[in-house]
Amino acid sequence: LKEHNARHLWHPMAHPADSLANPPDIIVEGEGVHITDVDGHRTVDGVGGLWNVNLGYSCQPVKDAIAAQLDRLPYYSIFRGTTNDNVIELAERLRDFFAPDGLTRAFYTSGGSDSVEIALRLARQYHKIRGEAGRVKYLSVKKGYHGTHTLGASVNGNANFRTQYEPLMPGCYHVPSPYTYRNPFGETDHEKLAQLCLSAIEDEIKFQDPSTIAAFIMEPVLGAGGVIPPHESFMPGVREICDKHGILLIADEVITAFGRTGDWSGSRHWGVKPDLMCTAKAITNGYFPFGAVMISEGVAEVFEQDTSGKGAIGSGYTYSGHPVGAAAAIACLAETERLNVKDNAAARGKQLFDGLNALKDKYDLIGDVRGGHGLMLALELVSDQGAKTPIDKKTIGAIHRATYEAGAMVRVSGNNIILSPPLVLPEADARTILSALDAGFASVG
Ligand code: PMP
Repeated sequence: LKEHNARHLWHPMAHPADSLANPPDIIVEGEGVHITDVDGHRTVDGVGGLWNVNLGYSCQPVKDAIAAQLDRLPYYSIFRGTTNDNVIELAERLRDFFAPDGLTRAFYTSGGSDSVEIALRLARQYHKIRGEAGRVKYLSVKKGYHGTHTLGASVNGNANFRTQYEPLMPGCYHVPSPYTYRNPFGETDHEKLAQLCLSAIEDEIKFQDPSTIAAFIMEPVLGAGGVIPPHESFMPGVREICDKHGILLIADEVITAFGRTGDWSGSRHWGVKPDLMCTAKAITNGYFPFGAVMISEGVAEVFEQDTSGKGAIGSGYTYSGHPVGAAAAIACLAETERLNVKDNAAARGKQLFDGLNALKDKYDLIGDVRGGHGLMLALELVSDQGAKTPIDKKTIGAIHRATYEAGAMVRVSGNNIILSPPLVLPEADARTILSALDAGFASVG
C-alpha cells in the first residue's frame, strides 16, 4: 500500500521535509478521537481530520441518518428549484442555530471554498441590485485563508498561496492582521495592535474609495495562517467600519462555526453579527462534503424583493443541498447541540493552552503560543528567540514525527504546529497530546 501511495497519489501539500514522512502515513481506521495507521499505530487525532471532525469518528446517529437516506433518496438536484425534504428541514435547523447571529437563510454549497466563492459573489450582486454596481472590490486580512477557488485565492492573505497563480482577481486588498508576534507596527499589546489594524483598514478604505468596496471577508480567529486570535475589540471594530461605509461583512467560519472557539460561532464569540457567513467542514463532521452560506434577513430581502431580474442567483452546484449531506448535517447539528460541544471545546482549549505555555517555559524552540479561544491552538517555532528566526523544516519535521510516535497526530504549517482536535476530546486525551508534544520536543534536544 505504501509503495502504491507513493507511486500513484499526488501529494502536493505534503512537502517531504515537513510531512510526517515521505510518503505520508496511511490512516485506515478512526474511532472516537483516535486514528490508526496501516501499521496499527493508534494516536489521538490532534488535527480533528482537518479542523472538521468535531464529534469524533464514531458518531452513530450520523451513520444511521446517512444509511437511511441512501436507501430513501441518494440524490436529487435542487438546482432548478426542485428541492427535497432534508434541505428544507436543515435550513430550518440552521436558521434556529444561527438566529442569534442574525442569519436566517441558507444557500447550500459543496464545501468551504464554494461557500467563500458564493458569499463573495453574492456581495457584489447585492450592491448591484441596490444600484451600486461600482462596489466590486474586496478587503481581507493578511494571513487569512479563504479556500482554493480563484476569488478565494485572490482574497487569501498569505502571498505564498497567491503568487504561483497570479494574475488573480484584481480589486482584492489585504490589510494587516492582528498578529502580535510579528507585525509591521512592532506592537506586542493585543488591544493596541487591534486599534492600529483598524486604523489601517480605515486608511485602506479611504485610499480605495469606500463606494468601490463590496465586502470585507475575515475569519473570526485566523486558522490556517497559524491560529491568530485577535483582541476582542477587533471584529466589532471591523463591523463598525463596514456599517459606516456600506460594506458587507463576510465571516469566513468554515473552521470556527459549530463550537470550535468555545461558542456556537466565531462571530458570536466576539459579539458580532455578520451579513454573510461561510460554513462547511464540521457541518457534516467529515461524513460528507457539504457547506452552507448563511445569509442575514437584510441581505436576503434585497434579493427576494428585487424586480429587476438582477437578484436571480446564477450560481449553484450539482451537489448543492445533496440529500445525503443534508441528512448528515441534520444529525450532526443535533449531536453538536445534544453534547453541548462548545463547552468542552472551551474547557479542553484552556487545558491545552495552559499546557502549551508550560512547554514554552521548557523549550527555547517555542517562540509563541497562541490559543485561548476553544480548540484552535498553535505553537510558533523559532531557532532564535530574539531574532524570531523560523525553525528549519527538518527540525519541525522531526518534532512532528516524534510527537506522532509518542501518541498524537498534530499538524505542521510553515513554522507552526497547529492543534484542532475533535471538540469531544476527553481530558485524558488532551493530556496525551501534551505529553506527546513534550516527547516530540525532547527528541530534538
Ligand atoms: N475558509 C477557511 C477559513 C478554511 O479554513 C478553509 C479550509 N481549510 C476553506 C475556506 C476552504 O474549505 P474547503 O477546503 O472545504 O474547500
